[in-house]
Amino acid sequence: MPADADCVFCKIASGQLPASIVRQNQTWMAFLDITPLSEGHLLVIPKDHYLTLSELPDEVCGQIGSALPTLGRALIQVTGADGFNLLQNNGPVAGQVVPHVHFHLIPRRHDDGLGYRWNAGKYAPGREADVISAFRNALA
Ligand code: AMP
Ligand code: ZN
Repeated sequence: MPADADCVFCKIASGQLPASIVRQNQTWMAFLDITPLSEGHLLVIPKDHYLTLSELPDEVCGQIGSALPTLGRALIQVTGADGFNLLQNNGPVAGQVVPHVHFHLIPRRHDDGLGYRWNAGKYAPGREADVISAFRNALA
């Protein structure tokens, strides 16, 4: 997957733009978010350009996924946070601003005021069975 000349994360991956890199290998890079929700907020990106998680090859996603526990432990050690969120936005409707797939690791503290609305819903009678069936067909 070639780099996108207009993509800010491609520019970071290639070294054209500076970033506060904490770890990288041939496939991915982890660096500090430039406008952190809290100190130590990390972004993890594949070095190649993919728009969303759905486009990311399993192999690349696997490599990034394997690194997340280590990065999470380092984040807790470095920041002393009480926990962290793993956040991954796909598409503008989901809050994705940078069109190059990325994973946020966001340190959390009790009473930090961060959060989001979690309006838990409920399936209408029979609807859950339809949804399960549609998923099983899609994944067959
Ligand atoms: P999202 O809303 O999921 O697309 O998040 C994009 C994130 O990228 C935001 O948290 C930005 O602060 C961050 N960001 C944008 N440009 C840079 C940059 N040059 N270096 C580091 N982080 C950046
Ligand atoms: Zn890119």
